Amino acid sequence: MKRFLTFLSRGLLFLIAIAIILINYRPNVPQLGTFAYQLTGHDTGGRLQIQFIGNTNVLVTDGDHTILTDGFFTRPSLIQFLWGEIEPNVDVIKEGLKQAGIEKLDAVIPVHSHFDHAMDSPIVAQMSRAKLVGSESTMNIGRGLGFPEDQMIVAESGVPIEFGSMKVTLVEGKHWPYPDKAMAEKLLNQEITRPIIPPASPMDYKEGASYTIIIEHEEGIMAIHGSAGYIPNILDEYDVDILFLGVAGLETMDDTFNADFQTHVTGALNPELIVPIHWDDFFVPLKRGLKSRGLLEKMLQGMDLETSLKIVEENNPNRKLVVLPLWKTIPFSSL
Ligand SMILES: [Zn+2]
Repeated sequence: MKRFLTFLSRGLLFLIAIAIILINYRPNVPQLGTFAYQLTGHDTGGRLQIQFIGNTNVLVTDGDHTILTDGFFTRPSLIQFLWGEIEPNVDVIKEGLKQAGIEKLDAVIPVHSHFDHAMDSPIVAQMSRAKLVGSESTMNIGRGLGFPEDQMIVAESGVPIEFGSMKVTLVEGKHWPYPDKAMAEKLLNQEITRPIIPPASPMDYKEGASYTIIIEHEEGIMAIHGSAGYIPNILDEYDVDILFLGVAGLETMDDTFNADFQTHVTGALNPELIVPIHWDDFFVPLKRGLKSRGLLEKMLQGMDLETSLKIVEENNPNRKLVVLPLWKTIPFSSL
């Protein structure tokens, strides 16, 4: 009996050790080095600046007006996620805003309402005296956190909203289609119909609407395409200088999907420069820096950043690809 128990506890320890290794071992992604941003000195001036703050957080400012997508700073741990209870962490959000140098924002705009985009957005908007812009689902995240109704703007797809020098258009598209059927059923094509009062299950944060966010400024035009899905032809009328492209999951889709994605997102928007976003492991706190996803996600979900970046690279031989560093404010004209 004693021998059996020893055997069992050793077996258990062994399994835990394997799990820890698989979660924390992150395969090397050579493109993160090859395409890393370098200040080349051809910054031609101008006021427009960009900051990448992990996942699909993109800050765009000209000093007078500032837009932030998502504002997701909390990054619950994998354990909290699996346990099924998450909530915004106000201290982490404050720390993140401080580190990014954010005091006043005009608008906080989640790319859709999943927790890894919209969970913190109302708190960030409130702290920075900004409008919360998005779908009714996003507004219900706001309502659960007591965000004032008169500071909410429910976006109408394709209809521009002006924030001083920035003209912002949300175009409703499609989320990346989870290959895992059970996940897709739980998380896609559903609205948040009642206010979410955290702590809540990650699964309560339904998609709502997934947007491509177009930001027009006199110095340039950008698109933030947070999730690797598409609707044919809806982006054809837009032409941008920089495309912030959510790359997570491209590697799990077949060649036909990737060819169509190329036609209807990257090809349609026709940017000179692509900045990959949604590539880092959002269970890792921002204070640890950006880390690519662990081996476990590759084994369970097929997530593999090297392959997804290779797909983007191969499909865009005539476009520049730049990986932005975390927390660094970068002049738009240097890109
Ligand atoms: Zn999502």
